Amino acid sequence: ATPISVMVAVGRAAQSGILIRQGDALQKAGQLTCVVLDKTGTITEGKPVVTTVRHTAKFDGNTVLALAASIEAGSEHPLAASILAAAKEQQLKLEKVQKFAAIAGHGVEAIINGKSVYFGNRTLMGLKGLNAKKYDGQLSELSALGQTPMLLAVDNTIAGIIAVSDPIKKDSLHAVQQLQKLGVRVLMVTGDNEITAQAIAKQAGITEIKAQVLPQDKASIIKELQQQGQIVGMVGDGINDAPALAQADVGMAIGTGTDVAIESADVVILQGSLLKVPEAIALSKATVKNIK
Ligand code: ADP
Ligand code: MG
Repeated sequence: ATPISVMVAVGRAAQSGILIRQGDALQKAGQLTCVVLDKTGTITEGKPVVTTVRHTAKFDGNTVLALAASIEAGSEHPLAASILAAAKEQQLKLEKVQKFAAIAGHGVEAIINGKSVYFGNRTLMGLKGLNAKKYDGQLSELSALGQTPMLLAVDNTIAGIIAVSDPIKKDSLHAVQQLQKLGVRVLMVTGDNEITAQAIAKQAGITEIKAQVLPQDKASIIKELQQQGQIVGMVGDGINDAPALAQADVGMAIGTGTDVAIESADVVILQGSLLKVPEAIALSKATVKNIK
C-alpha cells in the first residue's frame, strides 16, 4: 500500500467525521464481510423514554416508579437515566437504598425500607425465584412495539411493569441498506429480549439478530464469526461493547461513545450516524483500488 494514498484517505475520512485511530483500519474496512451492530445507542438513539407504568393490586403507579428510580439512582445504565427522568417529572421522592447491586445484563437490586426490591428483565425475576408467567402476555405486547419492559418486584411479589421506548435513529435503515448493497452481512446484538430485538431489527431492515446476549458474551459472538471465516466489523458505544470492539477486525465506536469504547476502537465515528460505516467501507475500497 502506498502510504500517500492512505494518508489522503485518512484525511478525507477525518473531514467526514470518521477518525481512524489504528493505522491499517482504513484498509481493513473494505475487506469486511460482516458488520455487527449493537442495538442501544448504535441503531437506536440510546435515549430511552418511559412510556408505560403499570402496577399490581397492592401498589400504585407512583410507588412503582419511585421504587424503581430509587434503585436506579445507583446505576449508570442508560435505562436508569430514563427511569430517573420520569420520576423527576412526576416530582416523586426517592427512597434511601441499601445494598445496591447491578446484575449485568439483567437489572438492579437493593434493600429499601427493609424490603428486597428487584428491577429488571424477565430473566432477573427468574434468577430471583419469582414467577412472572402471569405477566408474559403484557411483556410480549410491549416488546412487540419495540419497547423494553422491565419488572419491579418487592419482597418477592411483582409490583409493576415499566416500559421504555428507544426509537431507531433516522439514518439506521438507510445505513443498513447501504451495507447490504456493499455485500456486507449485517447482524444486530443486544442484551435486550428477543421480541424487542426482533421489532427494532425489523425497523432497521436487519434479519439476523442475537438477543439476550450477556455483556461478557458480545466478544465471543465476534470470535465465532471470525472462526467461520468472516472478517468482522463491530459498531458499538457502551462500556459493554469494549471487548467486542477490541476483538473485531475493525472496531468502530459511535457517537457519544463512552471513553472505554473509544479506547478499544480502531475507528471513531464522531456524529452518531450509522451511515458513516458504509461510507468508511466504500472509502476503503476506493483507496485500495487506487493503490493497486
Ligand atoms: P444492552 O447494553 O444491549 O442494552 P444490557 O446487557 O445492558 O443490554 O441489558 C440487558 C437487559 O437487562 C436490558 O434490556 C434490561 O431489560 C435489563 N437491564 C440491564 N440493566 C438494567 C438496569 N439498570 N435497570 C433495569 N433493567 C436493566
Ligand atoms: Mg449500546
